[in-house]
Formats: sequence, structure tokens, C-alpha cells
Amino acid sequence: MSQPDVIVVGGGLGGLGAAFALTRQGLRVRLLERAPAFGEVGAGIQLAPNCTRILDDYGLLDEAVRLGVVPDSMVMRDAVDGSELTRLDLRDLEKRYGYPYLVIHRSDLHGLLLRACERVGVELITDARVTSYENTEGGARVTLAGGETHEAGVVIAADGLHSLARELLVDDEPVSSAYVAYRGTVPAGLPRVRATDLGEVVVYVGPSCHFVHYGLRGGELLNQVAVFESPKALAGQEDWGTPDELDAAFAGTCDFVRDGLPYMWRDKWWRMFDREPAMTWVHGRIALLGDSAHPPLQYIAQGAIMAIEDGWVLGEHIARNRAADGTVDWAPALAAYQAVRPEHCRRVVTTSRTWGELWHLDGTPREQRNTLLRARDPYDYSFTDWLYGPTALTPDQEPAMFTPIPLSSATFPPPPHANM
Ligand SMILES: Cc1cc2nc3c(=O)[nH]c(=O)nc-3n(C[C@H](O)[C@H](O)[C@H](O)COP(=O)(O)OP(=O)(O)OC[C@H]3O[C@@H](n4cnc5c(N)ncnc54)[C@H](O)[C@@H]3O)c2cc1C
Repeated sequence: MSQPDVIVVGGGLGGLGAAFALTRQGLRVRLLERAPAFGEVGAGIQLAPNCTRILDDYGLLDEAVRLGVVPDSMVMRDAVDGSELTRLDLRDLEKRYGYPYLVIHRSDLHGLLLRACERVGVELITDARVTSYENTEGGARVTLAGGETHEAGVVIAADGLHSLARELLVDDEPVSSAYVAYRGTVPAGLPRVRATDLGEVVVYVGPSCHFVHYGLRGGELLNQVAVFESPKALAGQEDWGTPDELDAAFAGTCDFVRDGLPYMWRDKWWRMFDREPAMTWVHGRIALLGDSAHPPLQYIAQGAIMAIEDGWVLGEHIARNRAADGTVDWAPALAAYQAVRPEHCRRVVTTSRTWGELWHLDGTPREQRNTLLRARDPYDYSFTDWLYGPTALTPDQEPAMFTPIPLSSATFPPPPHANM
């Protein structure tokens, strides 16, 4: 095998996205995946316009739209009483940002990126577990579990939440949120699906729990996600998030949510972790990308999107630092990536935490939240402009953040008969 220009470690959505982005810039890319076959577990994934814009640039959006669903609206409801709190008109949102909000099965998105990588000639290698990384004179080297080594000008570590490469840069551990996600899909034809508007992405927010649903594969499937805070995790027990906790966590929610629980897969569940933001992702010629750099909690649905954006940004900076003979000046390309992505992802990771806290409120804060959300103009985009616009290539392009609204600013209507 001749030496590639770039090695990408990890064949998840982030690694495949980066491998495609770099190969289309004319580089020879080798992707090393530890699993015996490429694939994704889980069900649906939401792709906001800051991702569909990139898929369009890659020439992959039409295929993604064919495989997924472009919903009409996103609705937030209170999980206890089922009432609507606020909504986004996703057709209007598409006009504002120029690209659709799309929901798609993870395996369809993964398959689409894998096929795109195959078409452009990424060298895809499975059964290749990287056990160490090191910088070399002219690039970087990885060693596999079997002792084999691979070298390239640059190594991109897209090795996920438990990244080995991250240890080169940061001495930290994943942070447990004590929340766990159950997923499941319901086939069209079952009464549950007929009772559901598949043109809506809906999140029911409740005390220490939430429930999400949307249609997949052109309406063939209803995707459901049930997330809750595990009492066993809070008590420090090792065996937490188990199915016995699921029904109890949603006992106080409305009928529609509770009726969805029997459809959740009970043989696997996802404990929710993130990490404190890391502001340095580049170590010589080794760079982090995707969840290895910035694993978020999933509340604003941007984890895979950030990973895909990372690859696109890197590709654009490579194009700007490539000589006529094809050689890349890696130091400025990596510096430009480092200059813009960590701060954007820090914003997403910290906002995801805050958004989750807001979803899971109880008591008076829940009522204050509901009052503020009900008062929101559905066509107010001040909370999405920082996220859904074009991905910044330089720090000056990064949009300003929104201004948070304090819960305490909620004013309640006077109780009925107050003046009597
Ligand atoms: C419940 C839930 C809902 C979510 N919803 C959304 C959503 O709606 N929208 C969104 O954008 N994001 C969402 N996310 C987040 C998203 O799934 C992740 O951020 C994204 O999949 C991360 O991709 P990645 O490629 O960086 O990492 P991973 O998917 O973890 O891929 C890492 C890859 O590296 C491989 N690997 C690891 N170590 C090695 C090694 N040593 N050698 C070789 N290979 C290795 C692994 O086998 C794996 O294939 C959600 C997450 C959860 C849990």
C-alpha cells in the first residue's frame, strides 16, 4: 500500500464526512475503522440547515431527501398535560436559511456517506483498531492492535466519545448526565402511527424526562426517543438506565407519551455523556474531529452535524492551502481549523446542557418556562440564527449568540376571579 496523504481514524458519521471532504479536495485518504464492518446503530437523526447546506455542497442532498422526511413543523409540548408550548414552521425556516430541515434514519445517512466515500476512492479498511498515535518528522503515524503501522501527512482522529487520540491533548473523562435514552421505531400501519402526524417533529418536555417522535423513510416508520434521568445513576449504582426505570420515569406524563413506551427497544439503551469543552484539538499533525473533540448532550441535535461541519471546514482550508503541485501546507490549514471550530462547538456543547435543563424543569420553573415559550413568536429566529446559518470558516464569520431570557421574567396571568 502506498502512503496516503491523510489517515482518518473512525468510520462513524464524522470520519466518513471528513474522508469524503478531503478526498474531494484531491487528497488520498485512508480510513481505519476498528469494527469488522461499517454501520450505525440507533434510529433517526435530525439534520438542520447548517448540515443540509453542506450535504448540498457535496452533491448528496437530493439523495438524503429521498431517503428521509422533510417535516413541516417542529413542535414542543408539555409532557405532563400534552399542551403545545411553541413551534417552528420548518417550511418558513427553510426559506430563511436556504436549506431544509431533514430527518433521516442513521443507517441511511451512514450508508449514503459510505457510498460517497467509495465513489471518490477513499481507502476503507475495517478490523483496524488504532492503539497509539505519534507525530513523525513529516506527518503522523498510528499503530494498530496487530502491530501494523500507517503513516500520512496528517491523522484525523474521529474516534468518538471515548477517543484515544484525545488523551494526547486533554486529561479528562466523559461527564455522565445521569440521563439515558431509549429508542425505537414503529412501522406504518400500526394504530400508533395512524394517530401521529408524521409531518411533525415533536418533543414533549417533562420533569426529568422528555419524549421525541418524527417520521422516517418517507413515512414508513415512526421514530421515537424516550429520555429520562435515572434514579439509579443519581444513587451511584453501576447498573443504571435499565428498562425497569423507563416506565416509572414517565408515569406522570400524558397518555400519548405513555402509550409510546411499549414500542421502545428494551434490549439496548444509550447513557448520555458529554465532555467539558476542549479548546485545543490539534497536536502537531494529529487533529481531533467529531465526538472525539466535542461530544454534546443531544438536546439541540447538533452532534453529528458538528462532526460533518468539522470535515467540511477542514476541506475548505485544505483547498486554500494547497499548492499547484497538490501538496498541502498543513500547518496553516490545521491552524485555520483550530481557530474556528473549538469555539463554535464550545457554544453548542454548553447550550445543549442548558437547553436540556430547561426541558426537564418541574414546579414553578416549569410553569415559568411554559409561559415564556407560549409567548414566543413562532417566526422569531433569534434562537436559531447562531446555529442554522452558513458554517463559519473564520472566527469573524461566527454569528453572535442569542440573548438568554431569564425564567424569572415570566409574568403569569392573574388567577381567575382575582378581581372578584
Ligand atoms: C439519543 C441520541 C440522539 C442524537 N440525535 C442527534 C441528532 O438528531 N442530530 C445530530 O446531529 N446528532 C445527534 N446525536 C449525536 C450524534 O449521534 C453523534 O454526535 C455522532 O454520531 C458522532 O459521530 P462521530 O463519527 O464523531 O463518532 P462515533 O459515531 O462515535 O464514531 C466513532 C467511530 O470510530 C471508531 N473507533 C473508535 N475508536 C477507534 C480506534 N481506536 N480505532 C479505529 N476506530 C475506532 C468507532 O468504532 C466508530 O465507528 C445524537 C446522539 C444520541 C445518543
